Amino acid sequence: MSHFAYQDGVLHAEGVALSAIAQEFGTPTYVYSKARLLENFDAYANACAGRDALVCYAMKANSNLAILDLLARRGAGFDIVSGGELLRVIAAGGDPHKVIFSGVGKSVDEMRLALEHDILCFNVESIPELHRLNDVAGALGRKARISLRVNPNVDAKTHPYIATGLKASKFGVAFDDALATYRVAAQLPNIDVAGIDCHIGSQLLDDTPLLEALDRLIELIDTLAAEGIHLHHLDIGGGLGIDYGVAGDAAPVPVGDYLGRLFQRIDAWRAGQHGGKGIKVIFEPGRSIVGDTGLLLTKVEFIKHGEEKNFCIVDAAMNDMARPALYQAWMDMQPVVQREARGEVAGAVFDVVGPICESGDWLARDRELPVEAGDLLVMKTAGAYGMTMASNYNTRGRAAEVIVDGDRVHLVRRREKPAELFALESVIG
Ligand SMILES: *Cc1c(COP(=O)(O)O)cnc(C)c1O
Repeated sequence: MSHFAYQDGVLHAEGVALSAIAQEFGTPTYVYSKARLLENFDAYANACAGRDALVCYAMKANSNLAILDLLARRGAGFDIVSGGELLRVIAAGGDPHKVIFSGVGKSVDEMRLALEHDILCFNVESIPELHRLNDVAGALGRKARISLRVNPNVDAKTHPYIATGLKASKFGVAFDDALATYRVAAQLPNIDVAGIDCHIGSQLLDDTPLLEALDRLIELIDTLAAEGIHLHHLDIGGGLGIDYGVAGDAAPVPVGDYLGRLFQRIDAWRAGQHGGKGIKVIFEPGRSIVGDTGLLLTKVEFIKHGEEKNFCIVDAAMNDMARPALYQAWMDMQPVVQREARGEVAGAVFDVVGPICESGDWLARDRELPVEAGDLLVMKTAGAYGMTMASNYNTRGRAAEVIVDGDRVHLVRRREKPAELFALESVIG
C-alpha cells in the first residue's frame, strides 16, 4: 500500500496533507512515512524469521536519528562507513554489538573508537588495512573481529549500476586474492577471522547477480574450511533496487522473493555438509529500507519561459538532492494539489531547477507539469541518499525533516539557520 496518495485532490503523507506540512514547516522539507519505513524493514525481518540472520541497515542512505531509533527498536543492526556514523548509532540508542564497519579508508581513530565500543565486525578491504587494524587492536589489548570484503566479479551485463563488484573497482579484495588474504589475516595475533562479505552495487532490480555473488562466497567459504579457516558469518551486502517510476524499468524484485531464493541456496549448501553449518547471514540494505519512505517537498518560486525551454524554478536544489546532478538520476515529480483536474492550470513541459549557480543544478528535465508560481511540488522516492548527501553549497541551510505517523507530524530535524552555517568560521584578525 502506498503511504503517499491523493485524497480529494491533495497529496497526503499517511493521514496528513502535504500542503499543511509546507505551511507549518516551510519548504524545502523532507517528509518520511513511519509506517512505510517499518514495513520495509519488516519485509527483511519477516523473511529472516527463525533464522540466524541480522539486518544491518546501511545508514549512509539516511542517518537521521529518528529513523535509526525506529529501526533499532525493531531489532536492526547498522552498517556504518565512518566513526561519525557509529556515534550516531550510539546517540540513537542503537546497539554497537550489532554494528559492522565498511569502507576502504578507516582511520586509526575510527578503528580505535569502533574497538572500544566492541562492534560486531570490521569489513576489511585490503591487506594494509588488516595490518593497521591488527596494530590498533593490539595497542588496546583487544582482538578485532573481521570479515573480508571480496569482489566476486559478477557479470555486470544485468544492470549498468553494478559498479562496485567488478575487478576495476576500488572496493574489496579480488576474488583470486581472497584466499591469500585470509591466510595473512589468520596469522595476525589481534585479528579474529569471523566472516566474509561483498556488496556488488546498488539499485539492482534483479537478484540474479546477488545470487551469483552468493554462490561465489559459498565457494570461498568451503575452500577456506578445507584449509582450517572456519567462518561464522556470510554478509551479502545491500543493493536491492526500488521503484523510482522510470519508464521502461522492470519492477524491482520483492525483498521476500530475493531472501527466499537466497536462503534456499544456503539451506541446500548446508545440507551438503560443507562449510555452511551454523553460518549466520547478514544483510546491509540501505535504499530498499528508506528510499520509498520519503519525498522532498518544495515550492515553485518562479516560472520562466525561455526560447527553447520552460523552467520551473523551485526552492529545493542540488544541495538538497544531489542524485540528478550526480548520477543523472531520474526522479518523479508531482504536484501536491491536482489543479489540472479542476481545470485551474494547463500543463506544460518544464525543466525543474533550483536556485544554485550551476547549470548542473536540476532536479528533473522535460516533465509535463501543471504548475504555477507558488504551487507545491514533491520529488518522490527521495528517502535514500537525499538528506545524507545534502550540502551547504551557496550557504543554503539544509532542509527540515519530518516523520509522519498517522495523522501526526514530528519534526525530526529543524531547518538550518544561515548564521549556523558560518558559526565555525573566524577571520584572521
Ligand atoms: C552503500 C552500501 C550499502 C547499501 O547499499 P544500498 O544499495 O543502499 O542497499 C551496503 N553495503 C555497503 C558496503 C555499502 O557501501
